[in-house]
Amino acid sequence: MSVLVFAENSDGIFKKSTLEAISYAKEVAKITGGNCTAISIGNVNQEQLSLLAKNGAEKIISFNHDSVNNFNAEVFSKIISETAKSENSKTIVFSNTYSGKSVAPRTAASLKAAIVSGVISYPDLSNGFTVKRTVFSGKAFANVNMSSEIKVISITPNSFVINETNDALNIIPASNQVDANDFKTKSIEVSKASGKIALTEAELVISGGRGLKGPENWHLVEDLANALGAATACSKPVSDMHWRPHSEHVGQTGITIKPNLYIAIGISGAIQHLAGVSSSKVIVAINKDPEAPFFKAADYGIVGDAFDVLPAIINAAKNRA
Ligand SMILES: Cc1cc2nc3c(=O)[nH]c(=O)nc-3n(C[C@H](O)[C@H](O)[C@H](O)COP(=O)(O)OP(=O)(O)OC[C@H]3O[C@@H](n4cnc5c(N)ncnc54)[C@H](O)[C@@H]3O)c2cc1C
Repeated sequence: MSVLVFAENSDGIFKKSTLEAISYAKEVAKITGGNCTAISIGNVNQEQLSLLAKNGAEKIISFNHDSVNNFNAEVFSKIISETAKSENSKTIVFSNTYSGKSVAPRTAASLKAAIVSGVISYPDLSNGFTVKRTVFSGKAFANVNMSSEIKVISITPNSFVINETNDALNIIPASNQVDANDFKTKSIEVSKASGKIALTEAELVISGGRGLKGPENWHLVEDLANALGAATACSKPVSDMHWRPHSEHVGQTGITIKPNLYIAIGISGAIQHLAGVSSSKVIVAINKDPEAPFFKAADYGIVGDAFDVLPAIINAAKNRA
């Protein structure tokens, strides 16, 4: 019996969220008994695959083929489901990334498995098989008992530590077959934003709201983000007004993030915005209104005009040792 974990790659590189999922699956294997097996789909070189072994994968099944280099939810879930069956895996672990969100439910349906997404705890076996997940946009928690034989768990990125285990490298080529009939949808072209830190992966996020007055002032947000190695985000009105792309919109109707540090500049702190960012480990709010609701949710606050405060912070960030 094994715990199977989907090792998602981006252009052949494993993301931090993948290594978190591998370490999580290793821990689940320890708790439930069995081995941690990773399934990698697409062209990934041996150096990258060795990272999976370094972080807990005792066996790596590699479906190394050009036809699956571009993400395809149907084909990926077919490969993962077939592998789960051949490996007799009773627990399948995903990271709750964009890809994970579309593959995990399909895999669960095909295996007739229970699925819990947004998981933030290891399973508790004291009374069945219980995992904790966030609900109501991160404002509450639910303990969910999974009673099916096969269980699919999709963990929230940035919620678990990566534990190096240095397992021996054991790569096995996948025996699955895919043909043209499996590709019911086909990617014609994939355009990726390059050179930017992915928002869902970022440990530091600098976010701007309507208080920044217009897109012409966003260089301040970007300068601070560049100086700190952070990703950029924004409030909903900012993306609605096309000051920033929708991919940066965080909140109830946008992306939910959980960075170590979230700096909100000129954002009021409406409940719908907080729903997507309140799980950040440390929140700093910069707002010229001392009564802005964000200050109640923030760990640190700076009351001041963003156009005075930001240049000083950028300067300090650039000059730090
Ligand atoms: C169903 C629904 C879903 C929603 N989903 C989301 C969501 O996912 N994400 C989201 O963000 N919103 C969402 N909203 C909108 C949300 O209610 C707020 O309207 C929005 O978050 C406000 O954006 P803001 O803080 O950028 O703008 P504002 O509310 O206009 O706030 C601007 C802030 O900037 C401050 N400010 C102004 N000038 C300066 C300056 N020079 N220096 C410093 N501070 C300054 C002001 O004091 C103010 O606090 C949703 C609303 C609804 C109804």
